Amino acid sequence: MKKYTIAILPGDGIGPEVTREAVKVLKLIEARNDVEFELQEAPFGASAYFEQGHPFPESTKAICAAADAVLKGPVGLSYEATEKIPVDLRPERAAILPLRKFLNTYANLRPVYLPKGLAHFSPLKPEIIGDGIDIMMIRELVGGLYFGEKEVGVNARGLRYVKETLEYDEEQIARIVHVAFKQCMARKKVLHNIHKNNVLKSSVLWNEIVEEVAKQYPEVEVRHQLVDAAATLLCLNPRQFDVMVMENMFGDILSDQGGGILGSLGLMPSACLGETSAYYEPSHGSAPDIGGKNIANPYSMIGSVAMMLELSFDMREESRNIWNAMQSVFTQGYSTLDLSKPGSGVKMIATDAFGDRVVEELKKSR
Ligand code: NAD
Repeated sequence: MKKYTIAILPGDGIGPEVTREAVKVLKLIEARNDVEFELQEAPFGASAYFEQGHPFPESTKAICAAADAVLKGPVGLSYEATEKIPVDLRPERAAILPLRKFLNTYANLRPVYLPKGLAHFSPLKPEIIGDGIDIMMIRELVGGLYFGEKEVGVNARGLRYVKETLEYDEEQIARIVHVAFKQCMARKKVLHNIHKNNVLKSSVLWNEIVEEVAKQYPEVEVRHQLVDAAATLLCLNPRQFDVMVMENMFGDILSDQGGGILGSLGLMPSACLGETSAYYEPSHGSAPDIGGKNIANPYSMIGSVAMMLELSFDMREESRNIWNAMQSVFTQGYSTLDLSKPGSGVKMIATDAFGDRVVEELKKSR
């Protein structure tokens, strides 16, 4: 029997609620396969700060380091509640970024997927969606502005100032670009390279590396696209995109727009991959506006489990079964509040009921 240790970091806000549903799915997969999942829950985020004085405690670090994969819920608080935590101990800065660096998970795969049958979830018109949206956004995750040196102070004129640095070296760029080309080879062989080379020197180097790496993948057509225009085109004609690769901050912003064109951030799972480590998390945040109400959409979290099964444990069939089970729940006309607004015709169910229905559908696949 195969045995995998999974670190479970429920996080803040809706994190614990959606994590519970993801764990239900993991338990079923374990029960019907020759596999054992040892789940090790650990505090992470604002809740860990209030309980233990740090959002990424040493004990959690040790659990993540020893695990075969990490399943992480979103972290963070509302703007007002965040003010109660010292700036350098806030969960995004002192937990998420250090986790990414610690595991060196430089490649963030964010599928933006909506089949034709679920086009009604999207705010875009049916003629724009056509046969559906199927984009793989690939975001560099451990470099750029978020990780550069920072300086805050008062300048010679007595004015408060801030300086943040955006740094990439060619190795960092090449490794994420290779990930993107490999994805292209398994998909439609078209790569949209998202950049801002008309202003940023970092994009000039980025694009040079893309051109160099492209020589190793002659079958892939590379299309260079300025990030600002890409934002517009995602709304006007998302179907032109298949694989998109971009640096850290561009990816943070454009992938949230990905959730927007699908209809909800609740439809955005993700995988964060390094050479030897991997963690899986929804692309969205902790949604403090709906936390604790049992109304969040657990699709992103359960989808992150599906990505874990495929990419960390090579359980491709079960991964596909999970995607299919979630699609079945949707096609039966059910969803959580985010996708079942009045007049939509979609029957609203709670977070836990969605998880239960996914489990019931999943049972039918064996
Ligand atoms: P958010 O992604 O939490 O929420 C934006 C909107 O999307 C809200 O209206 C929310 O209700 C909705 N939403 C998000 N996920 C949903 C789901 N699964 N089901 C239904 N609706 C959902 O963004 P925000 O409000 O700007 O940020 C809240 C906190 O999360 C902040 O502290 C932020 O820093 C943090 N954050 C954490 C991560 C992470 O853990 N990786 C990512 C982004 C933001």
